[in-house]
Amino acid sequence: MTVAALTAEIAEKLAALYQEMEAGYDQVAIKVGLSCQGCPDNCCDSYFLHHTYIEWAYLWRGLATLAPPLVDAVVERARICLDHYRGAMEAAAWPKKMCPLNRDGLCILYLYRPMICRCHGVAARLRRPDGKTLHFPGCFHCQELTAPPGPAAEMDRTSLLRRLARLEEEFLGGRLGLLPKMKMTLADMLVAGPPKLA
Ligand code: SF4
Ligand code: SF4
Repeated sequence: MTVAALTAEIAEKLAALYQEMEAGYDQVAIKVGLSCQGCPDNCCDSYFLHHTYIEWAYLWRGLATLAPPLVDAVVERARICLDHYRGAMEAAAWPKKMCPLNRDGLCILYLYRPMICRCHGVAARLRRPDGKTLHFPGCFHCQELTAPPGPAAEMDRTSLLRRLARLEEEFLGGRLGLLPKMKMTLADMLVAGPPKLA
């Protein structure tokens, strides 16, 4: 198996899409007055699953910019995280463990963080291919702020996710459909190393 090459061209497209996600998030966050600063919570301890190989490869592109001992330390923390997830699952409890990339409350790979880290928080909607629209209420703080008579606003994730899916297709090319469905935590992606697809 060889490591999948993420070309500079595709990486740039993903970076541009990530920026648009952030802009869409900020627009809604400003409208409802949501800010993570000063929040008693830190959502980086949430159990998030990620679903694209391209984001996995991009994460490792970011890790390649860090000093190797730092990457080793992050991977070690990821192993501890996975132990916690296993223990929580066995105890039928919801996993909650700080992300291995979070140091002192901040993300050390901020520019390379995956989509869910950029969209989590504000209320959102998503139109599925079958025409049904799903609504997400946002984090607890967002729900407090938007409870009537508070302001109402949603981030529309539909076109952003479609574009992410198209980039995934471009990245995977002929391997699309041959690979197992991607469903990994960030800790899984760290412990597994860069995606090996061929
Ligand atoms: S996303 Fe919401 S709950 Fe999480 S840290 Fe930000 S404001 Fe707090
Ligand atoms: S990748 Fe960064 S932003 Fe996302 S959960 Fe981990 S530390 Fe938080």
